[in-house]
Amino acid sequence: MIETENMKILILGGTREARLLAEDPHFPQQARFIFSLAGVTQAPDLPQGQTRLGGFGGVEGLIAYLERENIAAVIDATHPFAARISHHAATACAATCRPILRLGRPAWQRQPGDHWVDVASMDDAVPALGVEPRRVLLTTGRQHVAPFIKAPQHYYFLRSIEPVSQDLPRFFETIIARPPFKLEDELALLTRLKIDVLVTKNSGAPAIAAKLDAARRLGLRVIMINRPLLPPIGEVSTVEGAIKWVARLASVHLESRQM
Ligand code: NAP
Repeated sequence: MIETENMKILILGGTREARLLAEDPHFPQQARFIFSLAGVTQAPDLPQGQTRLGGFGGVEGLIAYLERENIAAVIDATHPFAARISHHAATACAATCRPILRLGRPAWQRQPGDHWVDVASMDDAVPALGVEPRRVLLTTGRQHVAPFIKAPQHYYFLRSIEPVSQDLPRFFETIIARPPFKLEDELALLTRLKIDVLVTKNSGAPAIAAKLDAARRLGLRVIMINRPLLPPIGEVSTVEGAIKWVARLASVHLESRQM
């Protein structure tokens, strides 16, 4: 067995792209991955292969993990709003001289006919809704309702994949639904619920982009929460790009072992 078969890549998951990378049949045979999730979802969608769940314990914990598990490189394929783990991973890799790549998604771009209001954070989304009562579709995640609870003049429909664990005030209704969402369904939902405003993070995920097309068609305002600052590391936007990066690393690794 050649030594490069042991080259371990830590994939930090939490996105569809992370899973597609781990399941890609072209993932180089000279490398193998450990797929990591934060463990916040009840029924995580895990790929075949080695997986782990739960935080590492901050930067120090991640450094210790990388060294203990002899991880050769890290692919950060976390959600663009999961900034903390991305910063931790970049810091831990810099501190231990390990290569790191981000598998990201391009942000959604405003199109003609859009009525987007760009805001920098979830907190800034609340004043952007205005003082007049609105019917709001919230697609910002079940963990981020607190800022909206402070604006009870609006009526909120909170859409999430998993049920909300906390009790919500009477001006909230929940919708449990799993992407992908189709344009005709989004149009029907926005119309049936008489939505005035959509609130979303700019995740860039294709599976949930139909709501933006629907909002444009219906002339609805969209409060677009812009992405947090992520660490300046190399980035690709396709699974294929990430696989090429692993293949290059594996061949350099092999050459260095044969010298
Ligand atoms: P976050 O604020 O960046 O991270 C919080 C903590 O969770 C991290 O400090 C780390 O704990 C742990 N963690 C996060 N991702 C991890 C991973 N892949 N493997 C192991 N530990 C991880 O992240 P978040 O916004 O809470 O999101 C948590 C997870 O859900 C992420 O993996 C993300 O990709 C996914 N997700 C997030 C969003 C979103 O909108 N934020 C949406 C969809 C999916 P330690 O410090 O203890 O290591």
